[in-house]
Amino acid sequence: MDLENDVKYIKGVGPNRVQLLNKLGIYTLKDLITYYPRTYEDRSKPKALCECQEGEEVLIEAVICSRITDIRMSGRTMQKMIIRDETMSATAMWFNQNYLKSIFKVGEKYRFYGKISMKSGKITLMSPVFDKGEQEKNTGRIIPIYPLTYKLSQNTIRKIMENAIQEVYGKLQETLPEYILKQYNLQEINEATKRIHFPEKFEDFNIARKRLVFEELFSVQLALSELKNRYLTEEDGIKFSKDVKMSEVINTLPFKLTKAQLRVLEEIDNNMESNKPMNRLLQGDVGSGKTVVAMCAAYKAVKSGYQAAIMVPTAILATQHFENFQKMLKDLNIKCELLISGISKKKKEELLQRLVEGKIDILIGTHAILEENVIFKNLGLVVTDEQHRFGVKQRTKIVEKGQKPDVLVMTATPIPRTLALILYGDLDISIIDELPPNRKKIETFAVNKSMTDRVNNFIKKQIEQGRQAYVVCPLVEENEEMDLKSVEKLYENYKKEVFPEYKVDYIHGKMRPKEKDEIMERFKRGEIDILISTTVIEVGVDVPNSNIMVIENAERFGLAQLHQLRGRVGRGEYKSYCILKYEGKGEVVRKRMKVMCDTNDGFIISEKDLELRGSGDFFGTAQHGLPEFKIANLFEDIPILKLAQSAAEQILLKDPNLNNEENRLLKNLIKDKFSDRIEI
Ligand code: ADP
Ligand code: MG
Repeated sequence: MDLENDVKYIKGVGPNRVQLLNKLGIYTLKDLITYYPRTYEDRSKPKALCECQEGEEVLIEAVICSRITDIRMSGRTMQKMIIRDETMSATAMWFNQNYLKSIFKVGEKYRFYGKISMKSGKITLMSPVFDKGEQEKNTGRIIPIYPLTYKLSQNTIRKIMENAIQEVYGKLQETLPEYILKQYNLQEINEATKRIHFPEKFEDFNIARKRLVFEELFSVQLALSELKNRYLTEEDGIKFSKDVKMSEVINTLPFKLTKAQLRVLEEIDNNMESNKPMNRLLQGDVGSGKTVVAMCAAYKAVKSGYQAAIMVPTAILATQHFENFQKMLKDLNIKCELLISGISKKKKEELLQRLVEGKIDILIGTHAILEENVIFKNLGLVVTDEQHRFGVKQRTKIVEKGQKPDVLVMTATPIPRTLALILYGDLDISIIDELPPNRKKIETFAVNKSMTDRVNNFIKKQIEQGRQAYVVCPLVEENEEMDLKSVEKLYENYKKEVFPEYKVDYIHGKMRPKEKDEIMERFKRGEIDILISTTVIEVGVDVPNSNIMVIENAERFGLAQLHQLRGRVGRGEYKSYCILKYEGKGEVVRKRMKVMCDTNDGFIISEKDLELRGSGDFFGTAQHGLPEFKIANLFEDIPILKLAQSAAEQILLKDPNLNNEENRLLKNLIKDKFSDRIEI
């Protein structure tokens, strides 16, 4: 048995089904058995008919009391028959299933599983599946329900899965060392694989799931930590000059750096002066002053004789950084340039020429920097800003443009430590946990729909005083079409009904980058009073004159994301406001809104977010840049994540390169993970 075998060799999988399975990303036997159920239906315990509720899906044990009769209705034929259990009788009903007539016989006992529909006290069981007597094909057990199946029915994929599990059961090689299974009380792999698909009791499922979640989180964590260990032992990175002092640039700044900024700079400085390549994540809340930190590091690199690259996700942000760098570095005799896709061919050619000749010290740009013809003379430092917008692959690509350059990754998404360890486990972490002084708190209010008029009046007042406003509309679904519609609808409403006297415009993710930049430029120049937007404005553009942000359906956002959005205002001298419009009365919604009103601290917010986020609430997770796990859920599985992290830590402490015999399996485990990560 080879787990890499094509799924087509599994019993029940013909050419047609191969295609459908491929659509689900299932190509091999291994893909199949790790395609885990989304949920389960308990079809093991029968319920009495008299206890059934409208809409419930239930298992009924009943005797057939009548033959099937046909009822025709608008082109369809329904089959109905009467069944009865010890408590009362009900109707079982199907559509266009003529063949059933030859199956059921009056007086026989069957188990039915289906949905209850109730009308004036009468119960109908809708299109139930069934088993005769003691048979257990469709009922009598806990049935796995798989996610998204395209044209495969649940029955079909379940059957295929049964065959696959039968094939592998007992033959799966254990992937975790014996001592780990023992220490963390984990089920062995054959049983876990079988039980996650076909649990006999719900307890089975929990035991199996714990093992599989542990394995998934543990292997990622171990792979990342091992990778970090490897960096740490590399000794052929660039040693930047000890004679270049960051204070030379710090002293020219128009403000005093915060303690946190200074501490972080010292960490970076130490890295830069050592011969180990730096791989550092810089976390700092919106507005905490990460840019200036990047600038000091770039200064050090340049004055040590190297070039620096600063990569940011949007052209407008690149331009903004470029202008700042220019302003602050021009007296220090450092040459900055801007590379975005908008510049003319001639200018670009000339720029690339100077870059390769080493006449440009700092290149700031978008992913245009990644293009092959962008060649540095001696790239020594790479900074990526707002990195959750870049894939890991893009990160590696720019690093390859130098000889083991130092790398600084900056993010404004505050992530609790546990999560940071698994998202950025290969990086050292620095945190700016302090905002520059005199930062005004953004006054935040949570209101429901009934206050819309008051909110609009408030916006009017601010615009009359010369300010500008953002209105953020919710991501309707992870679906850009719908998204677009909701922006346009809101735009129509604000432009025609609410604020006909003001300049209203809109921006959304589906626009071309150039269009987006144009709109942002116009907003910056004050040519737009109210900007309706999707979350595309989240990435850090400064418009100091805008001091209000209204977020529609705020309950649909993750808190960390609301916080990011809110960070767009409060960047100028004016008192700033964030108004969260929400719907729904739930306790959790109220608590979440309260957190936003109570604090401006991104770390507290992200901790609370994690705590309050229900499993069904996945909005905003993409913003965290969380990797996709097959079975683990980072919001619910924090306890297992902690176990996995401490396990990884202990093992690597004793055996940093996993060379001990007892850890042989672990080497295989992370080999896979590591290649996955590079492939992203
Ligand atoms: P972010 O961390 O969100 O990228 P920025 O680097 O854009 O934040 O900084 C936000 C603003 O604060 C900028 O205008 C910057 O010049 C200013 N700033 C940074 N550090 C300080 C400081 N120590 N004191 C005062 N202002 C600062
Ligand atoms: Mg920034």
